Amino acid sequence: MISKEKYDALYKAMIRERKSRKEAERIIEEKSAEIFFVNEKLKKVNQDLEIRIEERTKDIEDSRQKLIVAKRIAEEATKAKSDFLSSMTHELRTPLNGVIGLTDLILDEDVNDKVKDMLSNIKFSATHLADVINEILDFSKIEAGKITFEKVQFNLPDILKVLYKNLSITAKQKGLKLFLDIDDEVPELLQGDVVKLNQIINNLVGNALKFTEKGHVKVSCGLESKNRKDNRVTVYFEIQDTGIGIKKEKLESVFDSFTQSDSSIGRTYGGTGLGLTITKNFIELQGGKIGVTSTYGKGSTFYFSLPLVFISQKESRKKETKQRVYEALDLKVLVADDMAINQLVVGQILQKWGVEVDLVSSGQEALSLLDKHEYDLVLMDMQMPEMSGCDATRIIRTDSRFQAVKDIPVIAFTANAFENSKREVYEAGMNGFVTKPVNPIHLYETLSNFRKSS
Ligand code: ADP
Repeated sequence: MISKEKYDALYKAMIRERKSRKEAERIIEEKSAEIFFVNEKLKKVNQDLEIRIEERTKDIEDSRQKLIVAKRIAEEATKAKSDFLSSMTHELRTPLNGVIGLTDLILDEDVNDKVKDMLSNIKFSATHLADVINEILDFSKIEAGKITFEKVQFNLPDILKVLYKNLSITAKQKGLKLFLDIDDEVPELLQGDVVKLNQIINNLVGNALKFTEKGHVKVSCGLESKNRKDNRVTVYFEIQDTGIGIKKEKLESVFDSFTQSDSSIGRTYGGTGLGLTITKNFIELQGGKIGVTSTYGKGSTFYFSLPLVFISQKESRKKETKQRVYEALDLKVLVADDMAINQLVVGQILQKWGVEVDLVSSGQEALSLLDKHEYDLVLMDMQMPEMSGCDATRIIRTDSRFQAVKDIPVIAFTANAFENSKREVYEAGMNGFVTKPVNPIHLYETLSNFRKSS
């Protein structure tokens, strides 16, 4: 029999144990509830995160799509710009081709000095206009990363003297003195892109003359360094003027595109604001450097250095005589061009070299003459109504009707110097191209190359 004390003790222990269990159950319940709520919160956070990730992914995808569309629009705009520039330059160069070509032809005639002088001025102005067109072309090529540099031999003092002579006209008109100082150490014969060097100096001296009302413009040329081992020299040029000068804060930005140092400059002096951008790019892309110092109201000095290759006298003489002699060309050439003025200029140049020429105005006419007569070469304009030069060439290369003449050399005659047009020329099966306005030396060299290879 259990004693009362023991019973009481057991009862108390049982009550304590029940209490403790209840307490434990309460704590477990409480903690479970807490865990449940935390879990719920976590679930919510997770859901929110998923929603956010989804939204972000959607945003990124939207942006990507927008970028794709923007890229396509930009590419289409660049292409439209390129096409526009290409056809615009064609329209502008065609009449210029006529003016420059005919002026050259009359200059070759027996005309008196007064007429010769006037013709030289016409040629100078027309060439200046061609330069402006080329400036627009050059800028778009720089933008598209499509600039290339030629390597031709030239006589630097001769180039500078011709430039000096031409620019003296402007200097004289403005009552300015123009000086040219070439250091004796500068090698005469160099190799590089003479056309672009001409553009660089022309632009800098042109600006100096434009922005100077009284005083002088001085062009100096010296030798910065010479390395006999690899025939490399760095030539230094300085163009100093006593003109309006440039404000200190505008000095760096004058090399930016479409920038003029003052908003009144455009109104007073004209200009595109592209010249210095092109100049800087031409110099830097060839490994040179350009800079400027200026005092507002007193004048400016633009300077640049350009690495070039120098040629020994012996080597040069051989090449020069080879270039200058116009031997008669025993060729029969078919010229297809829809512009009568181009036919006239090219026809007369070719006849001077003893070339037998037939002239037609369309690709269709060219094909029908090729069917009947024998020619050594075809000079074919790219853009002709009805049938373009490229289309006519494709027919010559592939149509069985022209089997006998399918390999005849076809040279594109084009006012369009764009890279994509050059590609089009070769893709159509043409063998080369001559740009307009026609450069007689280039035309002669192209034709003589085909005479040799045939
Ligand atoms: P623009 O065709 O307008 O002359 P440039 O790019 O050649 O374009 O020149 C940009 C600007 O730099 C000019 O508009 C002019 O404000 C300034 N500039 C260039 N050369 C000179 C100079 N020799 N003297 C004073 N300002 C100059």
